[in-house]
This record gives sequence, structure tokens and C-alpha cells, in this order.
Amino acid sequence: MKYITNNYLETVACGQKLGKLLQPQDLILLDGDLGAGKTTLTQGIARGLDITRPVKSPTFTLIREYQTGRIPLYHMDMYRLENSSADELGLNEYFNGDGVVIIEWSQFIAEQLPSTYLRIKITRQTALQRQLEFQALGQHYQHLLNSLFQDFDKK
Ligand code: ADP
Ligand code: MG
Repeated sequence: MKYITNNYLETVACGQKLGKLLQPQDLILLDGDLGAGKTTLTQGIARGLDITRPVKSPTFTLIREYQTGRIPLYHMDMYRLENSSADELGLNEYFNGDGVVIIEWSQFIAEQLPSTYLRIKITRQTALQRQLEFQALGQHYQHLLNSLFQDFDKK
């Protein structure tokens, strides 16, 4: 399923709608080139989780935790994983934990990922336009995706 955003704010709004639907242990994978909008979408998701703290890219820290929202958010960026091994990160504790997990550049930990998740691939169409392509693996995420697209239709 695909969705087009025409500016930064539309991507934030899309993330916010998704964030409102999320539950503990939900896993969102964000793929796309540098500057595609992965962190921007995460800012919207955080908003949807009632997190007011600004969301910054975890490129150098690998994981940033936000504990002040409706449920915790664990925002990860695996782009610089070369420096530490995925085992050291204790990923399974996050996947089986109390919050939502968002992973940018998840292809770098492909072998460590659970079998079900919502994957969003963001592609830059023009300077301001992005295509968001949603792929839901597993029934839970298919339901989630259906709810999200119902929200899009409501406008
Ligand atoms: P990533 O995390 O994928 O590297 P960022 O979210 O950090 O990307 O950066 C996306 C950049 O693209 C920001 O500078 C943002 O202002 C810009 N941008 C322009 N149009 C859009 C859009 N429709 N959606 C998201 N970001 C956009
Ligand atoms: Mg980013």
C-alpha cells in the first residue's frame, strides 16, 4: 500500500496517525536513503504517542529512548552499527519489552529481526514529495495497516 506526502508536515501528520494506533511491542522498520524522511516520520509517530520531547536522529547513539509518552518509544538507527555488534544492543529485550520499537536502516540487522513487523520504505520523488510504501508482515500488522488507511480516507 502506498501513500504520497507533499511536504514535511504531511509526513509528520502521517506518522502521528500511525503513532496513535501503536501498542507495546509493535515494530516499525523504516527504510530509504539518507534524507528520505525516516526520522521525520518518527517525529510524527512520537507525537502520536504523546511524546513532547523533540525526537533527534539516533545516528551516533544507535538507540534513543523516550519514556514520557503514552507508552515508551525506542528509536534506533543501525546506519553506524559497524562499530558495535547487534548482540551488544540486546535487541530482543526491546522487541519483547514495554514499548514501540522503530528501526531506521534495519537491513543492517536483517538476521536479528522478528518475523512480523510493519515496514515503511520512503522514496524521494521530488524535493518535497515522498512516497511511503507500507508492507505489513503478519496479521496484527495487516490490521494496523488497514486501520491507518481508514484514517487517511477520513482526512
Ligand atoms: P532520514 O532520517 O531518512 O535520513 P530525515 O527525516 O532526517 O531523513 O530528513 C528528511 C529531510 O527531507 C528533512 O530535511 C525534511 O525537511 C525534508 N523533506 C522534504 N519534503 C519532505 C517530505 N514530504 N517528508 C519528509 N521530509 C521531507
Ligand atoms: Mg534518520
